[in-house]
Amino acid sequence: MSVVSATEMLRRATEGGYAVGAFNVTSFVQMVAVVQAATAKRAPVIIQTSVTPTLFYGPRTIAGAYRALAEESVVPVCLHLDHCTDVDLCKRCVDAGYTNIMIDGSQLSFDENIAVTREVVEYCRSSGDVSVEGELGTVSGVEDQVAVVQDDAALCPVDKAVEFVERSAVDIFAPAIGTAHGVYSTPDPKIDYRRLGEIVQLLAQRQPLVPVVIHGGTGLGADIVRRLVGLGGAKYNVSTDLKHLLIDTSAEYLSQQRGSYNPGKLDSAVRDAHVARVGEWIDLLGSAGKA
Ligand SMILES: [Zn+2]
Repeated sequence: MSVVSATEMLRRATEGGYAVGAFNVTSFVQMVAVVQAATAKRAPVIIQTSVTPTLFYGPRTIAGAYRALAEESVVPVCLHLDHCTDVDLCKRCVDAGYTNIMIDGSQLSFDENIAVTREVVEYCRSSGDVSVEGELGTVSGVEDQVAVVQDDAALCPVDKAVEFVERSAVDIFAPAIGTAHGVYSTPDPKIDYRRLGEIVQLLAQRQPLVPVVIHGGTGLGADIVRRLVGLGGAKYNVSTDLKHLLIDTSAEYLSQQRGSYNPGKLDSAVRDAHVARVGEWIDLLGSAGKA
């Protein structure tokens, strides 16, 4: 039985100095591949769906497939709803069987953000082992339906981080530190490492431990990824990379094999590419062998 929330696996990651990969999927082929890669690497793993794919398939369909895959796997697997601004959809996903929910109130005022996050936390607490991720400050770029331009992106104020965590009672915290969604336009993006380190330190001084999440993980060099993890990033989100991989692998297969009209082989090509790529991420994040 490997259906778990994110809390325990991420506390272990924080204490162990590695990060758990959180992979956004838009198809069941990708979901299968993520679990296969994590199983092969003996790594804890998080599957994420943003709002559009969640509504495309429906929360119950996604959660049903997740449960079947996770129960057969030997590694802990969490199903996370990513960047949801709609409290009702958060609750529907909890009812369907998601095990971690991100309520994204980052575009709201500080107090409104705390209020909506707290509402989702209370619902999750009353529904069993379901953890909640909250965000403070805004991560720039476009993540599904939530768009933030670079200039408007406000980083997480260090002095507000602990207050947000305590008043909202979130299990996992996503501070905006200068990473961005989508594709980076520069190989050296302005990431506020010091801010990340200070927030992790402040959160480490209180109980229970609240792990920290890194958003906008695609496109950063391996050294940057290791630095973010070394500073205490315990959940590392990978979304854009797998979107590109799905499209590129499909296009390449079709350019060579279109005439064979064999959907199973197309799916296999996509799966194999994802197993390999997710495995590389797991190695980079240091979570191999941690399950
Ligand atoms: Zn994100």
